[in-house]
Amino acid sequence: MRKYIIATCIFLMMLSSQLISGEVNIYSHRQPFLINPFLNKFTEETGIKTNVVYATKGLAQRLKAEGKNSPADVILTVDIGRLYIYDDLDLLAKIESKILDENIPDHLKSLDNKWFALSKRSRIIVVSNKRVKVGEISKIEDLADQKWKGRICSRPGSHVYNRALMASLILALGEDRAEKWARKFVSNLARRPQGNDRAQVKAIYEGQCDISIINNYYFGKLKYSDDLKQRKWADAVRLIFPNQEKGDRGAHINISGGGVAKYSKNKDAAISLIEFLSKDASQKMYGAINFEYPVNPRVETTDELKSWGSFRSDKVRISEIAKITQKAQKIIDRSGW
Ligand code: FE
Repeated sequence: MRKYIIATCIFLMMLSSQLISGEVNIYSHRQPFLINPFLNKFTEETGIKTNVVYATKGLAQRLKAEGKNSPADVILTVDIGRLYIYDDLDLLAKIESKILDENIPDHLKSLDNKWFALSKRSRIIVVSNKRVKVGEISKIEDLADQKWKGRICSRPGSHVYNRALMASLILALGEDRAEKWARKFVSNLARRPQGNDRAQVKAIYEGQCDISIINNYYFGKLKYSDDLKQRKWADAVRLIFPNQEKGDRGAHINISGGGVAKYSKNKDAAISLIEFLSKDASQKMYGAINFEYPVNPRVETTDELKSWGSFRSDKVRISEIAKITQKAQKIIDRSGW
């Protein structure tokens, strides 16, 4: 009898420790090379294992279709537009967390605590070192000036990065002026909008154009690329953090972020992962691994990022940008961006 009691006790202890530590299943739009270092550290510190389903597309639809039976605990993604889709489809759980309240500024999370920014990236202007003089361009609005006719390259406007930028212009300038900007910007293009952010830097290096807009971390990826050619592209450009003049709004930023799945079976562990990602060590890792800026105001940017220039970011509530992406897309369509 005693043997059975002891065996039962041991079984119950094992069960309870499993319940506390558990495993976290992650649906991720972030690439494995980016999140694995974080997840390894998380497991090391907490004993909680993680499993990742990685996909660039279709995860929100999958989560929706799975409904209450979904194994997902945590969603990790980039771009506010994508986070907003999860929120819009009611796939995220409300979280109560003092740690997240402290670590993530209000304008970088949802009002009802369903999603949280975990890193920032700035959409900045890159210009030819040789063909654009210092001080000639200081804000995004300048790219509508006809003096740049035939000298700008761009990724298609309908890419999420540009759509969010367009939305930020609507918020800053109003719809009419934002649309005028878009039309003039498009009329300044040296070629049909094409390619990704890196391809714009390459085009400047090759002399196809002198100016473009990219996310800041692509500059780091090119600067430290294994490929000598890509390092040369980076050498050919200079970065401009736009809209920095006194009284101006600051540079448009976008986020990577995440939330807990509405039907997570393991919410405590899921919350502890999001919290972990908002803490000092993780916040520094975003900079070290992918040249992204911390969202936690108490964490310093890496020296490398500092060396590119300090800047103020637009403090507009990031969810306001997500709300008007449809409006932004219509302007993009009408202007042919
Ligand atoms: Fe990207």
